[in-house]
Amino acid sequence: MNQTTTSSRRALLAGLGGLGATSLAGCVATGGASTLAPPSRPRFVVPPLAPLRMSADRITRITVCLRPFRAAGPRLDVETVGDKRVVHNYGHGGSGWSLSWGSSTIAARNALEGGTKDVAVIGCGALGLTSALLLQRAGARVTIYAKERTPQTRSFRATGTWSPDSRIADADKVAPGFPALWEEMARTSYAAYQTLLGLPGEPVSWSDRYTLSDGAGLGGGRPHVEGAVHFAEYGERLHGIVPGFRDLSASEHPFPVAHVRHGVSMQFNVTDLAHMLTSDFLMEGGRIETMTFDTPADLARLKEPVVVNCTGYGARALWKDETITPVRGQIAWLAPQPEVRYGLYYKHVSVLPRPDGIVVQQVGDSDMWGYGVAEERPDRAEAENAVATIAGLYAKV
Ligand SMILES: Cc1cc2nc3c(=O)[nH]c(=O)nc-3n(C[C@H](O)[C@H](O)[C@H](O)COP(=O)(O)OP(=O)(O)OC[C@H]3O[C@@H](n4cnc5c(N)ncnc54)[C@H](O)[C@@H]3O)c2cc1C
Repeated sequence: MNQTTTSSRRALLAGLGGLGATSLAGCVATGGASTLAPPSRPRFVVPPLAPLRMSADRITRITVCLRPFRAAGPRLDVETVGDKRVVHNYGHGGSGWSLSWGSSTIAARNALEGGTKDVAVIGCGALGLTSALLLQRAGARVTIYAKERTPQTRSFRATGTWSPDSRIADADKVAPGFPALWEEMARTSYAAYQTLLGLPGEPVSWSDRYTLSDGAGLGGGRPHVEGAVHFAEYGERLHGIVPGFRDLSASEHPFPVAHVRHGVSMQFNVTDLAHMLTSDFLMEGGRIETMTFDTPADLARLKEPVVVNCTGYGARALWKDETITPVRGQIAWLAPQPEVRYGLYYKHVSVLPRPDGIVVQQVGDSDMWGYGVAEERPDRAEAENAVATIAGLYAKV
């Protein structure tokens, strides 16, 4: 890297690099008279990027969560248990927040079929909260029963990015209609989240994202691992709705790597989002009761004739659903940096800036990372390695 490039990168990352001079129309003197020069085109450049401060001594906590992966995709069928109609709404892999409004719209429709007005929702995570709100707004009287609520739920420990097909299903094991069903859920959710933008606390916002690569280009997606699950990828179905990504030329970015892809993506500031959904539900007349169910027969305790089952990974034990595979994921939280408004992905580590902290996550070289691992104890060494990887990037600037 030459001296000029290095120093301009330093300036950009330090937030000192200026926006390109945006001369609009200028006056040119010609022999005493003034004529208007043709307007030059405004230059668009990436605005200065504040550097991520990556060091192990900025780690404030480490959290672990299990994605409830089902090869067939989320369970959304309806069954009868004793005198209860049970509507299932669980098993959303790494896409629970992203698909929540769409999936819960289907569950709410199933629950209200038959005209019932009293509905119990089991679970107070992403799926339970959105199901409860949608049911309530459709005129039902709703009580949430759950072992844990925010901040103890697994949903609370999610990264908080728009990732509607992250470990959502095995493409070889889904029913033929699943891709279209997924698209319906994703489109409904996407539209619902657009209505939550611009609120105080920014429960939902957009951020710039950069995918960086030192060597090979960025095409081709994630490498295939021998014996790996064929994770479904349906992003193409949202083409034209969700903004796309494009490769940047070297002059358009400050990063010391060979390839950079840039786009904007939606993010969920989960602390605020979960708090807002809970408050809205309670303010609109809903009730939350702490209760644990050990077997489906325990549903007999409830007075409501219809139950929406949003127990996430908990359904594996409660419903003896061994089609749920845990996919472990860990986040190292670093002290917040309000000046950082972009996320990045580099060497299998993702970084997302949230108001409550910088989320740093080792994501591995394939979606098999953490597959089948039910260990929820934090691994400090994994956290420090992830932080060191990103620190290495900034050390080169
Ligand atoms: C590291 C990591 C990062 C992630 N990042 C994202 C992301 O950026 N975007 C995204 O869309 N998704 C993400 N996910 C996936 C997302 O977190 C899950 O899909 C989502 O949390 C599932 O929500 P849920 O409501 O089904 O389950 P949970 O949040 O687990 O909620 C289940 C609820 O049911 C209750 N419950 C369970 N069993 C019982 C029982 N027997 N009796 C009573 N109550 C019970 C629990 O107490 C809880 O209230 C991530 C996952 C991980 C692990």
